[in-house]
Amino acid sequence: MLEICMLASGSSGNAIYIAAGETKLLIDAGLSGRRIANALTAIGADAASLSALLLSHDHVDHTCGAGVMARRYGLPVYATAPTWQAAGKALGNIAPEQCRLLPNCGTITLGALTVETMPVPHDAADPVGFIVRSAKRAAALVTDLGHVTPYILQRLQAVDCLVLEANHDEEMLLQGSYPWPLKKRILGAKGHLSNELAAESLTKVINAQTKHVVLAHLSEENNCPQLAYDTVCCRLERTGQLNQVTVQVAKRHQPSCHLRLA
Ligand SMILES: [Zn+2]
Ligand SMILES: [Zn+2]
Repeated sequence: MLEICMLASGSSGNAIYIAAGETKLLIDAGLSGRRIANALTAIGADAASLSALLLSHDHVDHTCGAGVMARRYGLPVYATAPTWQAAGKALGNIAPEQCRLLPNCGTITLGALTVETMPVPHDAADPVGFIVRSAKRAAALVTDLGHVTPYILQRLQAVDCLVLEANHDEEMLLQGSYPWPLKKRILGAKGHLSNELAAESLTKVINAQTKHVVLAHLSEENNCPQLAYDTVCCRLERTGQLNQVTVQVAKRHQPSCHLRLA
């Protein structure tokens, strides 16, 4: 069984729990160590039994609890070399034997799980997306990207569960209160994925294997869960793909979208 749970999602902090058998991974640790441990307890998991922590990129909403988690639970931490360089100081002291290198386009095996990485277009040092596979099931975890490249579309084909960013509604962002340089950054090719782009990408990757869609990393100011959900579902309804999948929206501050894929 492949178990996936969004512990928290959005610019206020990201962490995803994904596990198979005794292998229990934390993808990103962008909230305090205490909040991550509490979220794990709330879903019946245990921070002390985590196997490893993997970082998608160096932004603080993905890394601010990583140092504490590594030290408190003796976790090996996997990140690409540029991510280590960019985030290293903020992570504080982590024992050298716990600091592991992640390729930005490759595969590592951690116990019962295989983790594949792919580069994503985002304004960080060396951001990656993940495909995590157990013996039978696979989940793609792709947030923090300005657009979906043909390569990413191709990689997202053979998975059972797609966790994809639906950051903002373009109209809400343009009409909202953010200063123009920030709007430009978010809308840019290395910014964040809009509801519309997420919906369009999903129409290109949902196939007979895809069963679950989780919309993640929603903006608090420039999106709302119902709007992200409606935008995506409306699009998938038109293409006849909606009846194939469940669509859920990850919650910002509490565990959500707890999936167990048999
Ligand atoms: Zn982020
Ligand atoms: Zn980011």
